[in-house]
Amino acid sequence: MDSKHKYSPESLMMSYGYSSELSEGAIKCPIFQTSTFEFRSAEQGKAFFEVAYGLREKEEKEELGLIYSRINNPDLEILENRLSLWDEAEDCAVFESGMSAISTAFMEFLKPGDVLLFSNPVYGGTDHFIKHILDKFGIEALGFYPNQTKEEITQMIAESGKADKIAMVYVETPANPTNDIIDIEMCSQIADDLSTNERKVYLAVDNTYMGPLWQHPLKHGADLVLYSATKYIGGHSDVIAGACLGSNEVIARMKTMRTFLGNMAGPWTGWLLMRSLETLKVRMDKQLENAKAVASFLKSHPMISKVYYLGFAEGEDKQIYDKQCEAPGAMVSFDIKGGEEEAFQFINALKLVKLAVSLGSTESLIQHPGTMTHAGVSEEDKAKLNITPSLIRLSVGVEKTEDLIHDLNSALETVLKRF
Ligand SMILES: *Cc1c(COP(=O)(O)O)cnc(C)c1O
Repeated sequence: MDSKHKYSPESLMMSYGYSSELSEGAIKCPIFQTSTFEFRSAEQGKAFFEVAYGLREKEEKEELGLIYSRINNPDLEILENRLSLWDEAEDCAVFESGMSAISTAFMEFLKPGDVLLFSNPVYGGTDHFIKHILDKFGIEALGFYPNQTKEEITQMIAESGKADKIAMVYVETPANPTNDIIDIEMCSQIADDLSTNERKVYLAVDNTYMGPLWQHPLKHGADLVLYSATKYIGGHSDVIAGACLGSNEVIARMKTMRTFLGNMAGPWTGWLLMRSLETLKVRMDKQLENAKAVASFLKSHPMISKVYYLGFAEGEDKQIYDKQCEAPGAMVSFDIKGGEEEAFQFINALKLVKLAVSLGSTESLIQHPGTMTHAGVSEEDKAKLNITPSLIRLSVGVEKTEDLIHDLNSALETVLKRF
């Protein structure tokens, strides 16, 4: 390829990191369905292990040889190289789920006695891990909310008396289910303020909601970017996977932890995700376009009282949006007039849009956060986070725009008739 031209990630997703000479000329990367790899000689096996176990520095241009699929496998390595392009990260580690990427980051960067500073709300599984599992390892958590200023958060940290124990700042933005937005640069400053020469405080951002296309947290000071690759990256509701991106130093630590927890993704998952990445840009572009149309339609409908969509961000949220987001995404939440009954009537009347949790897929998915994804959230937090009985969350897919609007409109008509 022309080495002077900088190709965009979408142009490289079909070929980057793969050389057909190594696979009988196959145009596509085969599935390396193998648990172990044959060494050419005992000397080569020795050399591979020296690098894998850090017994000596890698020589210039030397790469870690293929040893065993818990440590490395071509389908994972090529996938990791391709994923790195979107976030312009030095390296990437792929996991068997988004939760395993997130929990591995906690296990690697926190130890007993440490404190985690985190934003509310976070994904349900992450929330459970922070409150009920980190707790068992003697790791405390301190939460803050999207509308809090840097001064307020700093004051809260000071009042807790635990500033010197904070080892990681963990943020999810925009947050599920209401697209609440948090300033990544501000969080990076907080992490820097808490860091000392001996102790770096790492900033991790769950970027699942914006896929790898619409927000790039590393550019705004994050040290780790985490994904549920089950969502936009996989994009077809047919695979569970996760990823972490960052500097070589951060990812080397994540990969070592992954080797010992054994939660790497398998070759088949790696292959499926590579296939998905080829269409990531076209899928997400179409989802973005559909979401814009759907959000405008909902905003103007008399049965809808409020729409949570980043394209409608105002005031301070708009400033943060302009600074760190490249597009408003494809997640639209909204309040229907009435309550749970009307919300359920509407959801049950839909024909094209499917009732299921998850997001970022080719098909549009709808769900009721109050009784589904966020059923476990306390009533107090539900009120704080605007998770009302009338709140509905829609992940917009790639269907024809007019068909989506027709489906939403018809279902709203049936509720309107009964209202
Ligand atoms: C789905 C999701 C996760 C968890 O990912 P899994 O692949 O289901 O383990 C984490 N964070 C966010 C924001 C998610 O939407």
